[in-house]
Amino acid sequence: MLKTNELTPKVDEILVPHPESTYRVFVIKTEHGNIVVDAGVEEQAELLVQAIKPYEPCCIVLTENHWDHVAGLPKILEAMPDLTVVAHEEEAYGVPVSVDRLLKDQEEIVIGVKALHAPGHSLGNIAILIEEEKTLIAGDAIFGKGDYADSLSPPPEKYSRDVPQAIESIRYLLTHDFDKLILSHGVHELKNAKEKVMQII
Ligand SMILES: [Zn+2]
Repeated sequence: MLKTNELTPKVDEILVPHPESTYRVFVIKTEHGNIVVDAGVEEQAELLVQAIKPYEPCCIVLTENHWDHVAGLPKILEAMPDLTVVAHEEEAYGVPVSVDRLLKDQEEIVIGVKALHAPGHSLGNIAILIEEEKTLIAGDAIFGKGDYADSLSPPPEKYSRDVPQAIESIRYLLTHDFDKLILSHGVHELKNAKEKVMQII
C-alpha cells in the first residue's frame, strides 16, 4: 500500500517511494470528477493503480513529461484504459503514451480547476489552480525545501531548461489567487503561500 495524505479538503497526496527520492502523485477531488495529477515511476505503478482506483478518476493530468512524473503511465493505462490522458500542448511530445487532451494556458480541466502554463522547468510544464480552495499545485514550477533545494525556490538550474523563464512563470503564477502551495519536490506551503513565493523572485 502506498501512503496517502490529505493535504487539503480537495487534494490527497500519494507517496511513491523510489531509491532516489519519494515522488508524489496527487488526486484532486471535485464534484465534476476526480483528477489524478502525475503518474509516478514505473516500479510503483501497480501499487499506484491500487491507490488511485478507489477514486474512480476521470483523467490523469501530467504537470510535465520528466520521468518522475510520467514513467508509471503505460502500466497505469494498461490497468485503467478508460483514463483520459491530459497534458499541455507543448509537453505532449515527451509523454510515453498518446495524450488524449491537449491543454492551453488557463484552460479548465474540469469546472473550477485550471491549468496554468508555467514554462522554464520544461517547455510545457503546468501548475494547476483549484480556484474555490485557492490551492496551487505547482508541480516543478517551484521547488520546496528538501532533496533538491535548500529552501522554497525556483526550479534548480540542473533540472531546468531555462531558469529566467521559470522565474517569469512564477511571476505569472503570482497573478493568480492562491494561499496553499503543493509541490512535487520539497515541503508544501499550506499557509500564506503567496507571500512566501513573492520572496523568492
Ligand atoms: Zn519532478
